[in-house]
Amino acid sequence: NRRVVLKEYVEGYPTEEHMELVPGGEVPLRLTGDEPAGSVLVRNLYLSCDPYMRPKMSRPLRESYTAAFVPGSVITGYGVARVLDSSDPRFAPGDLVWGITGWEDYSVVKPPVTAFLAKISHHAAGGGGGVPLSYYTGILGMPGLTAYVGFHEICAPKKGETVFVSAASGAVGQLVGQFARLAGCHVVGSAGSKEKVELLKSKFGFHDAFNYKEEPDLAAALKRCFPDGIDIYFENVGGAMLDAVLLNMRVHGRIAVCGLISQYNLKEGEKDAVRNVGALISKRLRMQGFIEPDHKHLYPKYEAWVLPYIRDGTLAYVEDVAEGLENAPKVLIGLFHGRNVGKQLVRIADD
Ligand code: NDP
Repeated sequence: NRRVVLKEYVEGYPTEEHMELVPGGEVPLRLTGDEPAGSVLVRNLYLSCDPYMRPKMSRPLRESYTAAFVPGSVITGYGVARVLDSSDPRFAPGDLVWGITGWEDYSVVKPPVTAFLAKISHHAAGGGGGVPLSYYTGILGMPGLTAYVGFHEICAPKKGETVFVSAASGAVGQLVGQFARLAGCHVVGSAGSKEKVELLKSKFGFHDAFNYKEEPDLAAALKRCFPDGIDIYFENVGGAMLDAVLLNMRVHGRIAVCGLISQYNLKEGEKDAVRNVGALISKRLRMQGFIEPDHKHLYPKYEAWVLPYIRDGTLAYVEDVAEGLENAPKVLIGLFHGRNVGKQLVRIADD
């Protein structure tokens, strides 16, 4: 059972040296009986690479909503797996599941298993409808619910409003853009390459898009795209972009703070100051952070809403699929250099 472990806490940008693929011995394809009653043994099929995993690699300095990884221990994250054996009557061998698992070939998930894993019923081979299994790391998984909650619940969009999305071609951003279009909003995205900007316009239906790396003045770029201002900002990056957005918000605008990826690798003391917070007062803005785990109860509603759009092709979802557990560290790190195009995941075994 090969495993990817964190070797040491990370300061600054993570490198492949911070993680290690540890070879493991043979795994019995059944539970041995030594596990706590109610455990489930799974074969991991897809692993999700998500930006929140980076803060978990830092030495824990202050309380966080998610515990830090432990050096020497297997990295955990979202994934899709197949049940091989189960002592929980709700799971049976052959079931497909998604949720929190380990960066390893096989994982024993301890009780209460339903706190970590949910059964998949809409895979092509299972419930019909042709939904790729890998989508449970993205549009049908944590990033999908994040986009839905952040946009529909936190931003409460109205038809005709203007929406700006940063990191717009990523796992979450590509969905927010499409949800905004479906809601009848005018939506513009930013991304870090020409290829991604093209994708935003041609594949995801953004009305406009720009490459933030080629804009010497972000506030001017936003003014160009939103001459009358921004009603809704879906914040994925923070830093200079947030400052530029604050200058371009409209009165009574809303900012959903989903993530601040531009800050995750900066050391204490290096993080960007946000200067234009005065706009919150003068423009009577509402800025609200949120985390997806608080909204898990909305997943059934989200799944029922999104599945028909996936099936009839209304929503597109672009994935960046790496092959092999050994490549997981490299592509996780790639998120922080914008190397992924779309949702980054790793396939480690056949469906
Ligand atoms: P993405 O698929 O968007 O991948 C990360 C992307 O961020 C990169 O491809 C890159 O795109 C961009 N990026 C990296 N570094 C920087 C930087 N310094 N400045 C600007 N952009 C940068 O990731 P996700 O869609 O999974 O996540 C997007 C955001 O949402 C993250 O901040 C994440 O932490 C947050 N998140 C929050 C959740 C919550 O519950 N609140 C849940 C899930 C995600 P580019 O080439 O465009 O620069």
